[in-house]
Amino acid sequence: MSSYNAIQHHARATPGFEARVAHAVALLREAAEDHPGSVVQASSLGVEGMVLTDLIARHRLPIAVATLDTGKLHAETLALLPAIEQRYGLTVEVHRPRAEAVVHFVGRHGELPMRQSVELRQACCSLRKVEPMQRLLAGRTAWITGLRREQSETRANTPHRETAADGREKFYPLADWSLQDIWHYVELHEVPYNALHDQHYPSIGCEPCPRAGALGEYERAGRWWWEQDTAKECGLHQRPLPLNPGRRLADERDAERDTEPAAA
Ligand code: SF4
Repeated sequence: MSSYNAIQHHARATPGFEARVAHAVALLREAAEDHPGSVVQASSLGVEGMVLTDLIARHRLPIAVATLDTGKLHAETLALLPAIEQRYGLTVEVHRPRAEAVVHFVGRHGELPMRQSVELRQACCSLRKVEPMQRLLAGRTAWITGLRREQSETRANTPHRETAADGREKFYPLADWSLQDIWHYVELHEVPYNALHDQHYPSIGCEPCPRAGALGEYERAGRWWWEQDTAKECGLHQRPLPLNPGRRLADERDAERDTEPAAA
């Protein structure tokens, strides 16, 4: 049994912390006011998502909280759903991939297609994350995520808010928070968090894909660790490296054909 504890390891009070918290709350309030009834926090149930959910609940902001159950999540991650309900009285919306599309994909490529090629990994993410995400966002004009600039090189320029290509606004209230800030907030407010963080997982994802981090690595280095030189995004936040339509797999097209259009 590891004695590692993420709070003890990371939590630090640093100059400007209170101002960063106040700014995050102000942004969440703006999101709720600018998009009444049509803004959602999309949480991966990692520590950043839990901090955002705590801020939303603590300040009684009218913002829905939702997540994706890819069918490949750790038990520790799923355990947070009842924990959130118990702690905050919030019911988290859960969106899942289309069962028939998953059966088709697994039947064709097995349970671990992501290890075979980058393309199959991206197809798996498209099937299990991107398509359900479209349903999560259907009818909504804005969403909130816990991306932070220091998580990876591809996130280094994350703004606090922007309009995405689909016209929706995206809010990043934690963009300028450090890892120390995140864990300091968790400690201060006794925020429930994913037990995997105490097993050296800085970035929570699907069970087959992340691994524990190593000192000196970017926080998301453990995602798809067998890939050496690709931008480690799943398609939910990917801006600079969209999939090349000319290289899309038959599986992706099949998955799309097998799924109904997202409800408006
Ligand atoms: S993170 Fe891994 S298991 Fe999850 S959807 Fe992406 S490739 Fe599939």
